[in-house]
Amino acid sequence: MQKKYLMTPGPTPVPAEVLLTQAAPMIHHRTPDFSAAFAEAIKGLKYVFQTEGDVLLFASSGTGVMEAAIANCFCAGDTVIVCRNGKFGDRQKNICQVYGLNVIDLQYAWTEVVRPADVEAALKANPEARGVIVTQSETSSGVLNDVKAIGAIVREYPETVLIVDSITGIGAVDCKTDEWGLDVVMTGSQKGLMLPPGLAACTVSEKAWRAYSRSTLPKFYFDWMKYKKNIEKDTTPFTPAVSLVLGLNVALKMIMDEGLENTIARHSMLAEATRKGCEALGMKLFAPEEGRGSAVTPVWVPEGIDGKKIVSILKNKYGITIAGGQDDYTGKIFRVGHLGYFGPFDIITTLAGLEMTLAELGYEFERGAGIKAAESVFMGE
Ligand SMILES: *Cc1c(COP(=O)(O)O)cnc(C)c1O
Repeated sequence: MQKKYLMTPGPTPVPAEVLLTQAAPMIHHRTPDFSAAFAEAIKGLKYVFQTEGDVLLFASSGTGVMEAAIANCFCAGDTVIVCRNGKFGDRQKNICQVYGLNVIDLQYAWTEVVRPADVEAALKANPEARGVIVTQSETSSGVLNDVKAIGAIVREYPETVLIVDSITGIGAVDCKTDEWGLDVVMTGSQKGLMLPPGLAACTVSEKAWRAYSRSTLPKFYFDWMKYKKNIEKDTTPFTPAVSLVLGLNVALKMIMDEGLENTIARHSMLAEATRKGCEALGMKLFAPEEGRGSAVTPVWVPEGIDGKKIVSILKNKYGITIAGGQDDYTGKIFRVGHLGYFGPFDIITTLAGLEMTLAELGYEFERGAGIKAAESVFMGE
């Protein structure tokens, strides 16, 4: 027998309370029982999104809600500014191109943050732009983009919506949807919401509803208005992911009981301990100091070590699943997820496993230095 640890930024570990709720016998979705649960879920989602506006919930993975944002806000030929500094930003650009949008491409290296001044300049140069699209927490790189600053810029353009992929942001870092002027903010269930994959949610501001009204791109399953009209009656246009919605309420209650601010503070401490632990082992962090998120910590694989082996030894020998690098960074970085149902000892365990793995691979470092550095963070030293 081997005890398993899931240390990836999605899917993330699911608390037992949430799992057990989903094991309950199926209920029908056109019943007062489900309607009550659904209304509670929408209310809880508004809390985590920090919005008083509309929240829509879909049975899909995160990419569904990303595609939906494009189909619901724009017309073919519309100009949009896509800010991308990682794999998920790239995906957003691909979706825009599939829908025939004219993309102004603000491309950065994966190790850079999106510069709000560039967004401002792009909007000045292209005032007809109907949208700005940005990833708050770039899961491929661990970079945190400043959506608050970008929100303050886009707010000045009444016909331009700001679409934010916060799929690994919500529940891990602060995302003040209303206060920061974010028009569409998206998340997925298998990330900070501590659920299995299968649900995705987004907020829709007044400005985004205006964009919806003029949008002519085709949409059916993901047509926002169908969801809004049904939510007003505490129901859904199509069969919802009933068990996931019931589980969502348990997960949301856990976040509410902790208090969103404390949830975010916990993530920030877990991220800090992971960073300090890896640095104490002589490794370098991938994300730049001015933009490090709390969902995932990517780390450069030390010189002369095979990065794929770090991931495979950790998994096969020690039962700890971390993520490798993606695209150009395959084998060059590894990523430790700490998004959702995580506590200090998940980090200590992972750092201990990492030390044993690195020792086996012949990397030279002071044994115990990683866990000691993490302990100091948790003890507030
Ligand atoms: C996980 C993730 C998505 C969505 O991916 P799915 O596999 O479709 O759920 C989108 N953006 C970011 C930043 C993510 O981490």
